[in-house]
Amino acid sequence: MSILVLGGAGYIGSHTVYELIDGGMDVVIVDNLETGYAEAVHPKAKFYKGDIRSRSFIDSVFEQEKIDAVIHFAANSLVGESMVNPLKYYDNNLCGTKVLLESMVAHGIDKIVFSSTAATYGEPESIPILETDNNKPTNTYGETKLAMEKMFYWTSKAHGLRYVSLRYFNACGAHMSGEIGEAHNPETHLIPLILKVPNNQRENITIFGDDYDTKDGTCVRDYIHVTDLAQAHILAVKYLMDGGESNIFNLGNGVGFTVKEVIEVARKVTGHPIPAVMAERRAGDPAKLIASSAKAVEILGWKPQYADLETIIASAWKWHSTHPNGYKK
Ligand code: UDP
Repeated sequence: MSILVLGGAGYIGSHTVYELIDGGMDVVIVDNLETGYAEAVHPKAKFYKGDIRSRSFIDSVFEQEKIDAVIHFAANSLVGESMVNPLKYYDNNLCGTKVLLESMVAHGIDKIVFSSTAATYGEPESIPILETDNNKPTNTYGETKLAMEKMFYWTSKAHGLRYVSLRYFNACGAHMSGEIGEAHNPETHLIPLILKVPNNQRENITIFGDDYDTKDGTCVRDYIHVTDLAQAHILAVKYLMDGGESNIFNLGNGVGFTVKEVIEVARKVTGHPIPAVMAERRAGDPAKLIASSAKAVEILGWKPQYADLETIIASAWKWHSTHPNGYKK
C-alpha cells in the first residue's frame, strides 16, 4: 500500500511517516520545506519537494505514483501568526487544499486523512469536548481548519471521496528513538519553550496568565504524544480502506494539566529548577481544553501508548537535549 503524506517533513507528518514505514507501507512525501526540514524526511520515503498550491506539481505526483490514500498535514499552524497574517492562512490552508482536492478528484484518488485541531471548537461549551459540540473558532488558524473540514464534506458529497478529520489537542513529545522531534521557528509551544531553560537557551519560562478559573489559575490543556497521533492516522487510513464513512475524531488523552503542572513535571524530568515568571494572558487562549476521544477509541480502535505526561516530556527532552537547535547543525 502506498500512502502520499503531504507535509511529511513537518513535526507530526515526519512522525507519521516513521510509523507508516515501520508498519511496512510505501510512503511518498510532498513538502515545500517552508516549515518542514529535509533532515526529517525518512530515508526510506520517496520525496518530492513542491507546493500543493501548484496544480501541475501535484498532478505530476499523482501521475508518477500509484497512491492508495493521502494523509494531509501541509498547512500553517501557528495561532499567533494566523491573527497577524490571516490571508497567509487562507492561502496555504484553504487554497492549497482546494487545489489538492481538484487534483485528487481528477485522478480518482478517493481517500484522505487530514489534520484538524481542537481550535475548531473555540471556547468549549462543556468539558470534555465532544465531536458534536459547537464550532466557534476564536482564531484564523482554527477558522481555516474548520473551513477545510467543510471543503472535504461538500467535496465528498459531490464526488464520492471519503475523508477522516482528526482534531488534535496539544501535540507534543518526540520519537522514542530521539532521531526526530519538534522544531518550530519561531517556537511558541509550551513544552519546547520550557525545555529551552535546562538547555541554557532561556533564563525562565513565562506563564501566560494565572487568573483563569482552573485549579491553580493557569490554563489547562490535554497533551498528547506525537507518536500516538501518528498511530491514529494509520488507523484512520485502515478505516477508510475498510470502507468506513467520512468521519471526524478528537485525539487527546482526556486528561488536563495546568501550565504549572507541566512545568513541575519538566523540573522532575530534567532535574533543573526551571524558574517561572508570571505574565499577562495570551490573547485567544481558552481556559480549559480537554478532549473526549471515546469515539476514536471505539471506532478506530485507537489506544494511546505514551499517555503519561512524564513519558511525553522525557521523550521531548531526549530530542531537545541532543538537538538544542532542532535540525540545524
Ligand atoms: N503557555 C505559557 N507560556 C508559554 C507558552 C504557552 O504559559 O511560553 C501556555 C499557553 O497560554 C497555553 C498552554 O501553555 O495555555 C499551551 O500553549 P501552546 O502554545 O503550547 O498550545 P495551544 O494550547 O495554544 O495549542
